[in-house]
Amino acid sequence: MLFDLQPKTKREDLYDREKELKEFQNAINLGERLVLLLGIRRLGKSSLLNVALAESGMPYAKIDVRSLYFTHGSIPQEILARKILGSLLSTVSTKKSLRLRLEKMLNSIRGLKVSGLHVEFERKPDLAEILEKIDSWAEKEDIRAIMAFDEAQYLRLSGIQYDGLIAYAVDNLPNVTFVLTGSEMGMLHDFLGLDNPKKPLFGRYAREIILERFNRKQSMDFLRSGFEELGTEVDDGDIERAVERLDGIVGWLTTYGYLRGMRKLSEKEALEELFQRARALVSEELSTLIAYSRRYGLILKAVAMGNGTWSTIKEYVEFRGGPINDAKFSNLLKNLVKYGYLEKKGNEYSIPDPVVGKVVEGLQLTPR
Ligand code: ADP
Ligand code: MG
Repeated sequence: MLFDLQPKTKREDLYDREKELKEFQNAINLGERLVLLLGIRRLGKSSLLNVALAESGMPYAKIDVRSLYFTHGSIPQEILARKILGSLLSTVSTKKSLRLRLEKMLNSIRGLKVSGLHVEFERKPDLAEILEKIDSWAEKEDIRAIMAFDEAQYLRLSGIQYDGLIAYAVDNLPNVTFVLTGSEMGMLHDFLGLDNPKKPLFGRYAREIILERFNRKQSMDFLRSGFEELGTEVDDGDIERAVERLDGIVGWLTTYGYLRGMRKLSEKEALEELFQRARALVSEELSTLIAYSRRYGLILKAVAMGNGTWSTIKEYVEFRGGPINDAKFSNLLKNLVKYGYLEKKGNEYSIPDPVVGKVVEGLQLTPR
């Protein structure tokens, strides 16, 4: 179902993204070792990742780095190793002999015991060694093993130098492909440092697949197809107005479709509920940032209210929050771009998601 709110896992539930799926498969076929899926929140990175992995026909491990980080407050090697092995073993669970040979390969690591889906560490696992064994196994089987990290920028907060580990794997393990997704493109780029001579991945090649929002025609067609699938009649006028408000952000379009097609709400009710959900969701997403500096909230609010340039934004921020020096202000602005909350085109800043813009406009920022 197109309007299912969960990240999609099946090709038939995924609208379009043909080009991106092809590009992903092409990278795998060419034996590329590092693939990045980038795009702002709710454009369908997780969905694309799920479908691309399933369609690749290769064994893979998929880790939701964001939830791992928030569950544990950090990402210890042991937990990551357990997740990787658990996920990889489950994707090969139906291919018995393949799985048994993987099991055997892994059991040659001292202190590691694998049987079926059960993984036991008798001492602190060495992820590099585990990846080496996975690589050897993939080589013998003449396949690629894919290590996918969803919202990988959270790895940078782990306290462990996973960038070094990825660099080691990219350089030395030819049968393993790393796929990293990121809503916070700038943060992911900083973490990887492909063009930073001080970072271990400096100079490495990565395939970048950048997800864009749907254009107007696609957005309308997406809503129409979804309603048709559910047998719900919805006026073209309604669909046009929805696309006007939600733009081509598939996450919001899906929510709208769900509220109208499944919950049977009217246009007005559906939009109200959508913005109510968006308020809760976006406030939650922004909360850490704003707790760190209330000025992040003020900057976003300034932009949402139509201030686009460095100086007009600063003027608003100073009016509401008191003086701030230029360097510090520029830094906050730059970070918001890295987090994907702002976009910069020429000298103009904007909020790339109109729903987020609307939410930010109404944000109550308590004075310090
Ligand atoms: P992201 O990981 O970029 O934040 P998700 O994959 O979680 O985005 O998708 C956000 C919402 O949009 C989910 O409800 C998902 O089901 C839906 N969605 C994403 N891409 C598509 C697509 N191509 N076709 C249909 N629904 C999609
Ligand atoms: Mg996601």
